[in-house]
Amino acid sequence: MSFAVAIDGPAAAGKGTISRAVAAHFGFAHLDTGLLYRAVGAKVLEGAEAVAAAEALGAEDLIVGYLRTAEVAQMASKVAVIPEVRAALVEFQRDFARRDGGAVLDGRDIGTVICPDAEVKIFVTASAEVRAKRRFLELQAAGSAMTPEEVMADVLARDARDRDRATAPMKPAQGALILDTSEMTIDEAVAAAIKAIEARC
Ligand code: C5P
Repeated sequence: MSFAVAIDGPAAAGKGTISRAVAAHFGFAHLDTGLLYRAVGAKVLEGAEAVAAAEALGAEDLIVGYLRTAEVAQMASKVAVIPEVRAALVEFQRDFARRDGGAVLDGRDIGTVICPDAEVKIFVTASAEVRAKRRFLELQAAGSAMTPEEVMADVLARDARDRDRATAPMKPAQGALILDTSEMTIDEAVAAAIKAIEARC
């Protein structure tokens, strides 16, 4: 039996951490859909054409070490504006959402476009300051020399591109639980998500 959990929200709001914890808790499979766009972005940085790269994407493209860099993230949000890139990635995500045993997908358009009939939809958010600080600490730990100001500018640019695009813009799905993690610990945010899912199980 399938059971889909759609977790959307802006960069560094905590969706990845919450999604992984929720998937582990319920024994569901987890797909970080941002990785698909990052993998296409990375291919474009290597000289590929975006739509062809999306159409040819394979599992081996998702394990490249530098997919988590800020440079790849920016290119990911640029290729994510292209409708044909998004279209090429839809079927894989929908199949994943409806696999047996339950699935958690996190991204920007899971509850609105990929899986509008998901059993649970959550929109995870946090203030831009909190998100930029979290992302700064993550990037610093990974060896990046970016300043807090650069990280903030990066997060705001990506937010604007993701929110204002014509195709599948980032926004809360109808009926989504809005989870503002600005003042929450990870444990509190995870507990709130688990409670929302248990209510639907
Ligand atoms: O989630 P993450 O920050 O890794 O996503 C990288 C970029 O991929 C986002 O800024 C967004 O432009 C794009 N994306 C998207 N739709 C998704 C997931 C990610 O457009 N479902």
